[in-house]
Amino acid sequence: MPLSDPASRRAHLMSTVIPKLDPRPFVGGSFVDAAGPRTHRVLEPATERPLAEMPLADAGAVDAAVRAARTAFDTGPWPRMTARERGTTLRRLADLIERDLEDLAILESADTGKRLGGVRAWDIPHASAVYRYYADLAAGPADRELPPVGDVRAWTHREPVGVCAAIVPWNFPFPCISWKIAPALAAGCSVVVKSAERAPLSAQALARLAAEADFPPGVVNVVMGEGPVAGAALVADPRVDKVTFTGHVSTGRSIVRDSSSRLPHVTLELGGKSPNVVFADADLEAALAGTVDGMFSVQGQNCCAASRTFVEREIYDEFLGRLVTAAGARRLGDPFDDATEQGPQIDRAHFERIDGYVKRALQAGARCAAGGAPSDLGGLYYAPTVVTGATPDMEISRDEVFGPVGTVSPFEGLEEAVTAANDTDYGLSASVWTGDWGTAHEFASRVRTGTCWINCFGYFMEYAPWGGVKLSGLGRELGAEGLDEFLVTKTLFSTFGDT
Ligand code: NAD
Repeated sequence: MPLSDPASRRAHLMSTVIPKLDPRPFVGGSFVDAAGPRTHRVLEPATERPLAEMPLADAGAVDAAVRAARTAFDTGPWPRMTARERGTTLRRLADLIERDLEDLAILESADTGKRLGGVRAWDIPHASAVYRYYADLAAGPADRELPPVGDVRAWTHREPVGVCAAIVPWNFPFPCISWKIAPALAAGCSVVVKSAERAPLSAQALARLAAEADFPPGVVNVVMGEGPVAGAALVADPRVDKVTFTGHVSTGRSIVRDSSSRLPHVTLELGGKSPNVVFADADLEAALAGTVDGMFSVQGQNCCAASRTFVEREIYDEFLGRLVTAAGARRLGDPFDDATEQGPQIDRAHFERIDGYVKRALQAGARCAAGGAPSDLGGLYYAPTVVTGATPDMEISRDEVFGPVGTVSPFEGLEEAVTAANDTDYGLSASVWTGDWGTAHEFASRVRTGTCWINCFGYFMEYAPWGGVKLSGLGRELGAEGLDEFLVTKTLFSTFGDT
């Protein structure tokens, strides 16, 4: 029976969900005392009160986790199991996630400040769908026959890349972990997850479920520690064959730098500064709803946030007016309240960072048509903010603010729209709103992003590849391409001929 009000949900969180969590590193199939002496207090963004005290993994804890993963890969049963057996274990994990859906959603919502309704409807079920999807793909691509060399047969075989470090951010912890470890595990790899300090709790819950799903010891390991300590130790470890990272572009750069001496395989899912382009012939109701969702959903702490909106000049004033009204009407509040549309930012430091961006934009000559300051609710709630008059060179137009803040600017015609959309170092996603297929097609083929949504926003499906171009990253997650990231090709020549 789902709990229906914020007070009973919070009581359930503190009395039942949190006490079930083991905050220690999960290494070699159990929770262990391997972490260092320092601890980290995990705060609930909605209340700024402590949820848990977790031991921080130091280099020693990372060493233990990598050793367990290495042993599991080199000598354990997982890479040698049949694809069907691996798929069965992954499906068991998906079943357990669905069994615990409500508690996982309450935990993730409390830890991240995201609306419980959204996390329950998307983050948790999407993750279980990802485990199921890769369970079905566990057999991997078939061997490929190559032209023989005389009597010598030639073919390629795809093999698991090995031990994978999965380093994840705080804004979508549970889905981001699934995007990395579901394909890695399906391919036959072992993994060490490094959860984010700001929202580490659902990773601990996942570790418990992995134990219950009965992955062989050392196949799934989870540590929580500071990026420059635990994350950096993972990246530098010569026993790690692959680093799959989601986070800020500056961290992505350090990962490339720190791993350059040993060159592991690297996948990087980095930030964005996504354009959202509204042509005058668009369905304005749909474009407005998509723009509000794109700018403000998950408090703007979204890699694909529609943070730069361009509106064709003939409808600019009308569209801006409606957007400002919609921004002002958004219901901010407790993520546990079903009526809430926007929750708090993740923590005080990030809240101040967002406010700093807005203040500097105003100093640089931009204006706020809506919001532009902390909300009257206090705490970590920031008013939905619509910035106008921002020039393309301003910091607010170029940096990822990662808050409920978007710029809106006019454009004239398709050429200007494409130029404005591509005037960014990032290339994660774009959205375009128009009633004309030709315009949509031309824009979508010329915008330099990994994804383009046409008259819609924010679809993520387990079978649809996701990733960026330019500074938004390297490689793809989800879909068959997501599995490829964890496979390496071996080429074989054999005088056994057709055997
Ligand atoms: P972040 O880069 O600060 O941290 C991400 C992870 O990296 C954390 O676990 C952190 O501890 C770890 N880390 C930090 N320094 C490290 C180091 N030197 N070596 C190894 N690991 C280190 O990012 P964040 O603030 O957690 O997340 C927000 C960013 O993530 C935004 O830029 C957002 O756009 C991006 N993001 C991208 C996607 C995508 O799919 N492209 C999805 C979600 C978030």
